[in-house]
Amino acid sequence: MHASSSQPPEVSEIGEVSGTGRTVRTVDVLVIGGGIIGLVTAWRSAQLGLRTAVADPAPGGGAAQVAAGMLAAVTELHYGEQDLLAINLASARRYPAFAAELAEASGQEIGYRACGTLAVALDADDRAHLRELHELQQRSGLDSQWLSGRECRRLEPMLAPGVRGGVRVDGDHQADPRRLARALLTACERAGVVFHRAEARRLLVEADRATGAELADGSRVRADRTVLAAGSHSARLAGVPPHVVPPVRPVKGQVLRLRVPGPYAPFLSRTVRAVVRGGPVYLVPRENGELVLGATTEELGWDTTVTAGGVYELLRDAHELVPGITELPLVETRAGLRPGSPDNAPLLGPTALPGLLAATGHHRNGVLLTPFTGDVMGRVLAGEALPEAARPFSPQRFPARAAHQEQPA
Ligand SMILES: Cc1cc2nc3c(=O)[nH]c(=O)nc-3n(C[C@H](O)[C@H](O)[C@H](O)COP(=O)(O)OP(=O)(O)OC[C@H]3O[C@@H](n4cnc5c(N)ncnc54)[C@H](O)[C@@H]3O)c2cc1C
Repeated sequence: MHASSSQPPEVSEIGEVSGTGRTVRTVDVLVIGGGIIGLVTAWRSAQLGLRTAVADPAPGGGAAQVAAGMLAAVTELHYGEQDLLAINLASARRYPAFAAELAEASGQEIGYRACGTLAVALDADDRAHLRELHELQQRSGLDSQWLSGRECRRLEPMLAPGVRGGVRVDGDHQADPRRLARALLTACERAGVVFHRAEARRLLVEADRATGAELADGSRVRADRTVLAAGSHSARLAGVPPHVVPPVRPVKGQVLRLRVPGPYAPFLSRTVRAVVRGGPVYLVPRENGELVLGATTEELGWDTTVTAGGVYELLRDAHELVPGITELPLVETRAGLRPGSPDNAPLLGPTALPGLLAATGHHRNGVLLTPFTGDVMGRVLAGEALPEAARPFSPQRFPARAAHQEQPA
């Protein structure tokens, strides 16, 4: 589907000064938001030979700076989310080839690691809950295996003696979201994407069609197609007609980063996760010794404060799971915002406003869904219809609602 030439396409903006004295630039595709979702969209767009621009004051930032990077299609399965499962699995399958293509395009690895996942239970309630999840996985034809507590500890000797059982999922891997964001940024630059390091202040709409955006510096970028990919901020852009505003909200998550000292120190060989007293906790071990411990789920609007309570709960639950973590240096605490949607699934493709597309609402699976999103948005920008697998995720599936846009100061 994508041009694989090592030469970047001829991508340039046409700049002119309008009658109002404002700079107006014209591109084929303007992507609002340069998180991993906006960047993968821009990369695929530029590969098609489309003149592509990204507006973002800090491209490559966003939730990927906090995320753990679990590619957890199977362990994150929930009742009633079969359509989401299908695209999560499709994206997980795409990861090895995607990582290789991105490494080739950017010269950077993204820490893709085929390590698998072990979900464990510590008490009878959590064990019953995990049994149900395992049964759902089996009914859905997924590859997962029930293990006794002893078998879990044989696999991961650092687990607490009290572990009562677990589910081994050899297909749920990981990638490093920070490295993914960096690599996508480089791939975009090499493909000729133009970056405007400014916020998009207002969507431009003329004759019932989106025609680009006005940026915070007063300049305008005119575009044949505009992609709204502003993550948790996607419902805040001024100028978007109320019936088109995506129902996306911020869902706060606090995450800790620990360091396993020494290159050979054995700690965990795969992602370990559990639900402890109803609260999910996970430990994601990277090859470089980083151990990511997450995450809280909090509906607190735009708040990104790291709280003593959040850190305490994460450490308490993770300590019950893997007591040895208290010996490790705690090197970072951070909170980020997941772009949540009403059905926990992304919004992909054309909106009800001609010229405006969405790539947002990826909630807790944005890293996992990056390859799939890039493929879908690339095909739509190439002029194809929304692919079959992505149709349940059209932005137009939600009934029109009153906008809760906040006008910028
Ligand atoms: C704690 C936590 C743990 C997570 N763990 C995982 C995980 O294990 N696996 C997984 O798959 N996913 C995980 N995620 C989810 C994943 O990180 C997100 O779904 C994904 O990063 C969303 O990417 P995005 O590009 O849509 O949005 P964002 O990363 O939020 O990026 C949006 C970008 O838009 C920019 N922007 C905002 N408003 C404007 C504007 N008006 N004009 C221009 N630019 C604008 C911002 O500066 C930002 O760069 C986690 C998230 C969190 C917070």
